Amino acid sequence: MTGMLMDLYGPPMGNLVRGSGVYLFDEEGRRYLDFLSGIAVTSLGHNHPVIHEAVVSQLTRVWHTSNFFTTPSSLRAAERIGEIAPFADARVFFCNSGAEAIESALKLVRRACPDRPKIATLSGSFHGRTLGALSATMQPKKRQPFEPLLTGFVEVPFNDALAMREITADPEVGAVLFEPILGEAGVLPLEDGFAQALIDAQRDHGVLLVSDEIQTGLCRTGEWLGCSYYGIVPDAFTLAKALGNGVPIGALVAKPELAATMLVGDHGSTFGGNPLATAAAAAVIEFMEQASLRERVRHLGDLALPLLKPLSGVTKVDGRGLMFGLALAAPVAPEVMQEAFSSGLILNAPTPNRLRLLPPLIISEPELKQGIDILGGVLERRFG
Ligand SMILES: *Cc1c(COP(=O)(O)O)cnc(C)c1O
Repeated sequence: MTGMLMDLYGPPMGNLVRGSGVYLFDEEGRRYLDFLSGIAVTSLGHNHPVIHEAVVSQLTRVWHTSNFFTTPSSLRAAERIGEIAPFADARVFFCNSGAEAIESALKLVRRACPDRPKIATLSGSFHGRTLGALSATMQPKKRQPFEPLLTGFVEVPFNDALAMREITADPEVGAVLFEPILGEAGVLPLEDGFAQALIDAQRDHGVLLVSDEIQTGLCRTGEWLGCSYYGIVPDAFTLAKALGNGVPIGALVAKPELAATMLVGDHGSTFGGNPLATAAAAAVIEFMEQASLRERVRHLGDLALPLLKPLSGVTKVDGRGLMFGLALAAPVAPEVMQEAFSSGLILNAPTPNRLRLLPPLIISEPELKQGIDILGGVLERRFG
């Protein structure tokens, strides 16, 4: 008998054995510059010494306690998240992944608006693979094989402000769940007018805004939350990916009056708030703050943008901070990804004609330029 991984991700690109800073190494010792960061997870690079130390130090104390107890790490992580939240007295629920954070948000909305059961989400959005999160995910290919899904979700055409205004005027719509920049769809930012429709819905109709910051949060766009660029103050938001820099953790963060609608026993997670994961999370946010990472990311983003725009075959560059989507003149993104990998650069092709770049936020200027150079060479060979 032999055990094997389920084939859900397609043929693996390689077998990686080690990571250090912005580099990953395969079993043959080949080195790759990581412009994917494990899909916006290892924002502080691989094996970051500060996070490493935080987790190892927690390992020597206690690994798990159950949520009948708090630990200094879970309290500290909640405190740090409260400091970066755009509203006062944030309440935090810890879980283990992005999808779980979304599930928690959906239950919160159910509790908070019992008479307004509909939740609006955007065409092309991605909120996770569990059945609740998938019900919120408006991508037919991901949904259809698993129907019937949860009812009550209303699809808003992406960046159609008029449609958003109409849908949120429906008194049955209690909340909008949205990504400030659609990540899995290939890095597509909300337009200002569309974001304004969200703000107006919150103000005029009391619609709850739940910002899915799983990919855009924690400095990826140069702010703590991607929705801040639009002046949106969400009623709740979700975090995951970069929160543990690779240690699995997710979080739902809500305004206190909203959180108060969830009663003891309504929700929970055995591993949620696990000391190892929350030790990592607290250290991640503390490091980001100390290193002034937001300013750094904005600077690096400004540096990268003019280098990316003129690359061969690139028709448009979208994104913010160090989150880039590159539209290509032909649907060859998967091939470009493979060729970049062979040239020592890891990036990703979320759609056939879009590349996504998510370099580590601690990357140096020369490393950033080097990665763009490698990509430029690959594109030049295809399009030049
Ligand atoms: C990755 C992602 C999720 C799902 O997170 P998982 O940890 O894979 O469950 C949800 N929303 C957004 C915006 C994401 O990028």
